[in-house]
Amino acid sequence: FVDIRHAQKSYGALEVLKDISLQVHRGEIVAIIGPSGSGKSTLLRAINDLDPLSGGEVWLEDTQVNKTLPHRQYEKHINQVRQNIGMVFQHFNLFHHLTVRENITLAPKLLKGISDEEANKLAEEQLNKVGMIERIDYYPSQLSGGQKQRVAIARALAMKPKVMLFDEATSALDPELVEEVNQVMKALAEEHMTMIIVTHEMGFAESVCDRVLFMDQGVVVEEGPPEVMFRNPQNERTKNFLRKHL
Ligand code: ATP
Ligand code: MG
Repeated sequence: FVDIRHAQKSYGALEVLKDISLQVHRGEIVAIIGPSGSGKSTLLRAINDLDPLSGGEVWLEDTQVNKTLPHRQYEKHINQVRQNIGMVFQHFNLFHHLTVRENITLAPKLLKGISDEEANKLAEEQLNKVGMIERIDYYPSQLSGGQKQRVAIARALAMKPKVMLFDEATSALDPELVEEVNQVMKALAEEHMTMIIVTHEMGFAESVCDRVLFMDQGVVVEEGPPEVMFRNPQNERTKNFLRKHL
């Protein structure tokens, strides 16, 4: 479904992804863990070509994402692809001059050409899902971090993506706000949304994910089901990392 083949990425002499291959199946939930600088964000951002790879291929279903095309055609292609990929970052990058409603309806109206009425319905539906319907006409500055992040998730979901990517969606939040965002992600997991989640929260990864990848220095050192990865990792580097983070 998501198919990363021999991903390689260098910044000058620094090789941050070294021949990584990863297949994520439809409905599968994969966690990526690993130390700072190991390449987790780079890999995630390569999936929608925000950080284009130096080598290798990314496929979403039967479409190659990182195609070489003349500029105009590439823009058209990548905009199309990105409609299918929802992404939520650490810093909820909501549009500050727009209300919650406008944040959510903007992309569907612009990219899918749906009517105001339809877009509003979509926004309400998604805000209900993340428990934020009462705040539909607020501005981001009037929301807590956890609320902003739930709106960011609703905004991504409004595009009806095939896969959701989360890059440390809760790590900028105060501890008491983490759980409300985790709950939303858990609910998505129960609906079998395909998700790739970069996280430092091992407990959360263990409770929601089907598979855990441990990355270090640009390679996938070890991967497996959470019960094995967290309780009985085989690799010394994984053990060492988990000793510090469990
Ligand atoms: P963290 O847990 O801190 O978020 P990460 O695993 O997400 O770390 P990446 O952000 O993928 O790590 O970075 C991997 C490596 O690539 C790091 O050594 C980083 O310094 C380097 N890097 C990332 N972006 C750039 C860039 N634009 N130019 C040069 N080097 C970069
Ligand atoms: Mg990162």
